[in-house]
Amino acid sequence: MPGTSFIIVGGAIASDVHGKNHHRDGTFSAHVSSMQILLGNGECVDASPSEKAELFHATCGGMGLTDVIVSAVLRLKAITASDILETRIKAPSLDAVLEAFDANAASSYPVAWIDCMARGTRLGRSVLIRGRACSEGPLAVQQVKALEVPVERPSGLLNRTVARVFNAAYYGRACSDAHPSRKSFESNFSPLDAIAGWASLHGRPRFLQYQCALPKKSGQAGLRDILTRIGQSQLGASLAVLKLFGDANANPVSFPMRGYSLAVDFKAEAAAFALLDVLDGIVAAHGGRSHLAEDARMSEATFKAAYPRWQEFEEVRARGHAHGRFM
Ligand SMILES: Cc1cc2nc3c(=O)[nH]c(=O)nc-3n(C[C@H](O)[C@H](O)[C@H](O)COP(=O)(O)OP(=O)(O)OC[C@H]3O[C@@H](n4cnc5c(N)ncnc54)[C@H](O)[C@@H]3O)c2cc1C
Repeated sequence: MPGTSFIIVGGAIASDVHGKNHHRDGTFSAHVSSMQILLGNGECVDASPSEKAELFHATCGGMGLTDVIVSAVLRLKAITASDILETRIKAPSLDAVLEAFDANAASSYPVAWIDCMARGTRLGRSVLIRGRACSEGPLAVQQVKALEVPVERPSGLLNRTVARVFNAAYYGRACSDAHPSRKSFESNFSPLDAIAGWASLHGRPRFLQYQCALPKKSGQAGLRDILTRIGQSQLGASLAVLKLFGDANANPVSFPMRGYSLAVDFKAEAAAFALLDVLDGIVAAHGGRSHLAEDARMSEATFKAAYPRWQEFEEVRARGHAHGRFM
């Protein structure tokens, strides 16, 4: 499950989305047994990891560039209760939160909120939220009543000063290893769904999200460089999320790789685009890449360097009559 439930199965497969359990369970496509897909020549075929495997793998994460997913067979997990037990762990630095991830790798749904504006010895301070599915309790889907964002101000409510104060307050209020609290799976998996129009918190222009993955080996140094650069910029960054990733899969243009993922929201202003070009360079230097599902600005050169199997992907597209049909 990605961080929002407002998606469709086709979109989840085409972006090969991941949740907080990637380090244990992989991406969405790891749970797709087979798909029926419509090719560019009008032919409808079945594809699975054992039948038309190259088409299956290119479609998973292929951003709709290969074919149209008509239907899919999913393998779901049986649960006996729908709540998640959350425990918070305060980590005063980047090193501390990465150590906490390692120590909690057995947890099903670990995720960290990271303060991208902290500098110096506080660089990377975070609150790691460890999630575990309850085995007892209610088994229900809640109708989430979304709170409306009051009035949209052109400058937005999340400027740099507000982001700094919010981050300090969020970190300050968190209590390490306090008694675990029960949350519905909706509020654990997709907290922003409860705020209607949350995107307007940034005002106009709206916002963009930058999500990158960094390999385990260079992750610590890469994250340090990225956080230092964000801290030096004059941009506000409040909603930043750090996750642990497991192994990459067989899909040629899927995003995750073993290591870490950082997702940061910025107001979509000129200074942010300039900063993201710099971050692209840092991510590339550390062997990482950005998530195509979150991207609207990556250059062709950046894409090709970050997804070295792009030619193989193009060949599958050619054989599937996708060129000139799906763009
Ligand atoms: C609040 C929020 C949190 C998020 N958190 C995460 C996260 O934790 N992890 C993550 O991986 N992503 C995350 N995302 C990104 C989101 O999961 C992806 O962008 C997802 O693909 C959106 O699905 P959608 O159904 O809205 O598809 P769309 O946005 O409509 O489409 C996404 C892509 O899928 C293609 N597509 C859609 N349907 C089909 C079809 N039937 N056949 C072929 N191609 C198709 C489209 O062409 C497009 O390229 C988040 C997004 C938001 C807004």
